Amino acid sequence: MWLKDLDKKLEELNIIFKVDEPLAPYTSIKIGGPCKRMIFPEKEKSLLKILKFLENSEIPFFVLGGGSKLLVSDKGFEGVVINFCKFKGIEITEENEKKIILKILAGTRINEIIGMGIRKGFGGLEFLGGIPATLGGAIKMNAGAFGNTISQLVKNIRIYKNGKIKNIKSEESLWEYRKFKENGIVISTELEMERMEKERVKELLKKYLEKRKKTQPLFEKTFGSVFKNPPTYYAGALIEACNLKGYQIGSAKISEKHANFIVNLGDAKAEDVLQLIKLVQEKVFLKFGIKLEPEVNFLGCSL
Ligand SMILES: Cc1cc2nc3c(=O)[nH]c(=O)nc-3n(C[C@H](O)[C@H](O)[C@H](O)COP(=O)(O)OP(=O)(O)OC[C@H]3O[C@@H](n4cnc5c(N)ncnc54)[C@H](O)[C@@H]3O)c2cc1C
Repeated sequence: MWLKDLDKKLEELNIIFKVDEPLAPYTSIKIGGPCKRMIFPEKEKSLLKILKFLENSEIPFFVLGGGSKLLVSDKGFEGVVINFCKFKGIEITEENEKKIILKILAGTRINEIIGMGIRKGFGGLEFLGGIPATLGGAIKMNAGAFGNTISQLVKNIRIYKNGKIKNIKSEESLWEYRKFKENGIVISTELEMERMEKERVKELLKKYLEKRKKTQPLFEKTFGSVFKNPPTYYAGALIEACNLKGYQIGSAKISEKHANFIVNLGDAKAEDVLQLIKLVQEKVFLKFGIKLEPEVNFLGCSL
């Protein structure tokens, strides 16, 4: 019954949607069955209206960014996936000779922000170059690499929570390792970028991409690091020490290049990946007494 009411509302709000849409193509690991509806809001007004409608109607929903840290069940999700891919845009709100402030909608790809930096001469995010994430997903996960995190660039965050919009000034206490602590849906964010020569931005991007290519299976179906690094250890080193590089369940394999990456060799099932995650946890716990905590988000499935 809720599907009928939802479709009517979506048409009323002019929001594009797909029916029984498989999720696999929308994730970087390319796994996952269908959702009842996948919706593609483009404007803030209609996004907020549909969020309120879904909450008031108690319809289960999930916010999808770039799907680059997500494992979806093979059975899919009996609810609505809000795909942010069309909710994007970058606006310069302030600039001087040193800094440039950008207001960016949550569905904007990290690579688009870096690309604009190359065209307009600003930088700061190159360390995340090459990852298929959106700004919203990167904020939610406090994405980071090579000793930097996105939180270092964030000035303000606009979130939707309990039917209301909240503007949050970024401060250190709101962030932890791979986590933005405030609950809610990220609508937009202000980032403070640094003025830079275009050639310098390109150079930095190249440097980081080369580092990634050397150590990570960047062009395979993965979701980046599977586990968080436990304090003072690297998850990859612990997994490697258990001789698990190359270990395979079904078509899911622990990368030969980086032990903290699981690769979908073609037709891996969510169940294969879950089994592999559990096996790694068991082996690492037996050898080191350390319980590795997954960094991956799960939809419709769990460990
Ligand atoms: C090849 C590769 C390399 C990677 N390298 C790195 C790396 O170096 N560092 C790193 O940190 N990560 C890395 N990742 C993982 C991933 O890109 C990040 O975790 C990223 O932050 C996820 O963003 P996303 O938009 O894809 O989010 P998704 O995977 O779509 O979602 C992740 C979570 O965020 C939530 N979410 C998404 N958008 C919003 C929103 N607007 N509001 C509220 N919640 C939202 C989702 O509901 C979900 O819970 C890598 C991934 C790949 C495939």
